[in-house]
Amino acid sequence: MTCRELIRRASVRFSAAGIPDPVNDAALLLSHLTGRPPLSLRLDDESVPEPSVVDSFNALVEKRLSRVPLQYLLGEAPFYGRMFKVDSRVLIPRPETELLCEWALYLLKDRPSPRILDLCCGSGCIGITLKAGLPAASVTLSDISPDALALAADNAAKLGTDVSFCQSDLLDAFSGSVFDLIISNPPYIPSEECLTLQQEVRQEPLLALDGGPDGLDIYRRIIRDAFPCLVPGGILLMELGAGEDQAVSALLSAGGYCSTEIREDLSGIRRMILSTHP
Ligand code: GLN
Repeated sequence: MTCRELIRRASVRFSAAGIPDPVNDAALLLSHLTGRPPLSLRLDDESVPEPSVVDSFNALVEKRLSRVPLQYLLGEAPFYGRMFKVDSRVLIPRPETELLCEWALYLLKDRPSPRILDLCCGSGCIGITLKAGLPAASVTLSDISPDALALAADNAAKLGTDVSFCQSDLLDAFSGSVFDLIISNPPYIPSEECLTLQQEVRQEPLLALDGGPDGLDIYRRIIRDAFPCLVPGGILLMELGAGEDQAVSALLSAGGYCSTEIREDLSGIRRMILSTHP
């Protein structure tokens, strides 16, 4: 069977299973195994892949049919122009989080050597992106999960960024430390909603998604514990779940922060919140 036919057959099965982007997924899986560009494979009516490639492809197709996220099967995901290794130990980096990084890079561009803490670092996409954009910064990546930290360390090494790592339950390990920026994309989905998420998302670590009964548990702890860890004028910048902006904004005001500012993502959801230590 030619490359084109293999992709066609897999995409028909993906489509029947309700997988959103069937042809793209099939072509990317074959591209992953052959190293050839997906578009050229889709058009290739001549070459017939080796039986071992066909077997591996079929195995990946079965996994995708069981709703394993495409990025876990490919072993990587793009973020802010770089490829990050991902697997079931971490949340897959999302495009809206790129906007959070863009904002942070803008805010810190004139601070000479900022100290940055990426809380709930997962794959490390935020902290590594900030270090790459601000080489003079000292960046610490922290997560409660040793598995996530191991993968973040792989990513930092692969991308040649010099960052530090610290296993910590949110800010527990940081009393006495101070930062110019604490940035986080924390778990923010209300626990009950976690049960009804898209099947792919349910294969991502629950620890990275579940924000407690109202989705705000982690914000409450970060807002309380980050305050003494920020320099005067230091910034707390967080990603938000849909509809959580007002509640988080109120928590920030009650916690003594000032100059709160909210920004939308590209779908118009109020997705990011910044607040400053007075
Ligand atoms: N910081 C990582 C990301 O933005 C992981 C976030 C998390 O685990 N909640 O993708």
